[in-house]
Amino acid sequence: MSSINIPAICFIAASGTGKTSLLEQLIPALQKRGLRVAAIKRSHHDFEIDQPGKDSFRLRAAGAKAVIIASKYRKAAIFESADKAEPELDSLIALLDAKTIDLVVVEGFKHAPIPKIELHRKALENPLLHIKDPYTVAVASDVALDLAGLPCLDLNNAPAIAEFIATTLLNQPVEPPADLCSIEPQGLLTLEQALAHIKTAVQPVRQTRQIPLASALDRVLAEPVISGLNLPQDRQSAMDGYAFMASDLTPAGVDLILAGTSSAGHPYADLLKSGQCIRIMTGAVVPEHADSVVMQEQVGINGKHIHIPGTVKTLNNIRQSGEDIKRDEILLNAGKQLTACDLGLLASAGVAEITVTRKLKIGFFSTGDELRPVATELATGQIHDSNRYILGGLLAESCHEVNDLGIVPDNPKTLEQHLLAAAGNHDVLISTGGASVGDADFVHEILSNHGTTQFWKLAIKPGKPLVFGSIKGSYFFGLPGNPLAVITTFQQLVKPALKMLMGAAELKPLRIRATCTSDLKKSPGRREFQRGILHQDENGELRVASAGKQESHLLTVMSRANCYIVLAEECGPVTAGEQVWVEPFDTRI
Ligand code: AMP
Ligand code: MG
Repeated sequence: MSSINIPAICFIAASGTGKTSLLEQLIPALQKRGLRVAAIKRSHHDFEIDQPGKDSFRLRAAGAKAVIIASKYRKAAIFESADKAEPELDSLIALLDAKTIDLVVVEGFKHAPIPKIELHRKALENPLLHIKDPYTVAVASDVALDLAGLPCLDLNNAPAIAEFIATTLLNQPVEPPADLCSIEPQGLLTLEQALAHIKTAVQPVRQTRQIPLASALDRVLAEPVISGLNLPQDRQSAMDGYAFMASDLTPAGVDLILAGTSSAGHPYADLLKSGQCIRIMTGAVVPEHADSVVMQEQVGINGKHIHIPGTVKTLNNIRQSGEDIKRDEILLNAGKQLTACDLGLLASAGVAEITVTRKLKIGFFSTGDELRPVATELATGQIHDSNRYILGGLLAESCHEVNDLGIVPDNPKTLEQHLLAAAGNHDVLISTGGASVGDADFVHEILSNHGTTQFWKLAIKPGKPLVFGSIKGSYFFGLPGNPLAVITTFQQLVKPALKMLMGAAELKPLRIRATCTSDLKKSPGRREFQRGILHQDENGELRVASAGKQESHLLTVMSRANCYIVLAEECGPVTAGEQVWVEPFDTRI
């Protein structure tokens, strides 16, 4: 392997640990450090990346041992392995141009003699398999592990893993800890960096409340709930039909005597005897000794004689006691934000009261001399304040106690007074507008004078000017003024922060691949959250179209969108037909 001419690092983990998801975050983080990254992924399948019917596919089918397809955007080469020999990592790396690549990240090839990082996720309960491998340089885990001197990195902190690789493997100088203000004005923070800073800054509220189940929707469990019952409690029928003993059935079928009925809420009082069956309804208790239920449509009825054909499947159609959950098992973990389904689950276990974290007190206001409340006539230059309605809607969850603090003009003194009066009385304050660098933008300056600024300005669009910090014990988000920037920054940053504050388990947004049916404008630089309309075509394929012009004041475009098309920082324009990442808007049950 001495022939490897480009530094490479291998990531190993059990499947499901999130190797590719980590690399998706790590590659931009490495790129941000000026590194040009290539990726190699080991596959154990007879994979196909070409498509039947394409010219390149036809050339290969005609017998070409290698096919190269190239345009001004990218090149692809497909080599057929004639001997089906296992691929060698060094010969794959040799295909890359050392003049244009600084680092190769490798998925798989766990036996290759190159530096390795083993990934670990506690919930999967997989043992660490490679810590004794002399090439393993670190473990990245979602929990702190004591590894006898081997570094344990944070699996959810791609920038920190990038720093580790850059400093230990590539000898880049160690940067001072990222003081966010110092990053400005040279660079903009990525979304992940901003979220990592929020995670470090936010201390979850500790106070709890005991509340009745009926008012628990959206509240966050402060402690696990243990089931006091087996669910279901009894063995129940899953059908309307007849309960019988499997041992009575012969290949020729059997005639059984109808001995009684068990319906929901009215169990059959006796034991079932051989030669008998009982009429039974869905959800009714299956009597002792009965082990099978046959659907009513499958039997023949002649007075009290029920004929069960020999072909009927036995030991079927019975819900076992404790099948859903057993007594003393955890029904729901602390940190679960309760959905309608969770309320049903808790109710089924007879739980009447639960302990949740207290509500967050959140205040919000709009800033801008141009803003007027709804139901007022507009003079030239004035607009109605939409942002407070957006925020009111976005914050409408029972775990929030929300205060609308009105409209504040673009006057630094008034804004300062307003902010100082509200700070300290709220867990979180959110303002919109005035967060940028215009002549009437004072939010950042006031926060810096009276509190601490954690960051300002992000590499996302919409939402570049965004101030996060704290003032008099309140966390503060100064969101941009454009309504769409308010929505996007709320969803991407404020909402995760509120969840962290309530101690809610982290929920990563679902991102899926879809074929883009529109050309999209995009310049490399910031991550864009473009408004899209996602649908499934007649073949079940996911397709996404632009919802319209992508300027951040166009609320009608956002209103008809059902997803974001998420375009990575380095991505340029998208041509219709390309695959893109899509983040559907949130829906919960
Ligand atoms: P700003 O961030 O204050 O420079 O505002 C950016 C844009 O958003 C301007 O066109 C503002 O008029 C607009 N804007 C600011 N606040 C609001 C609001 N509350 N409702 C609707 N538009 C707003
Ligand atoms: Mg303004």
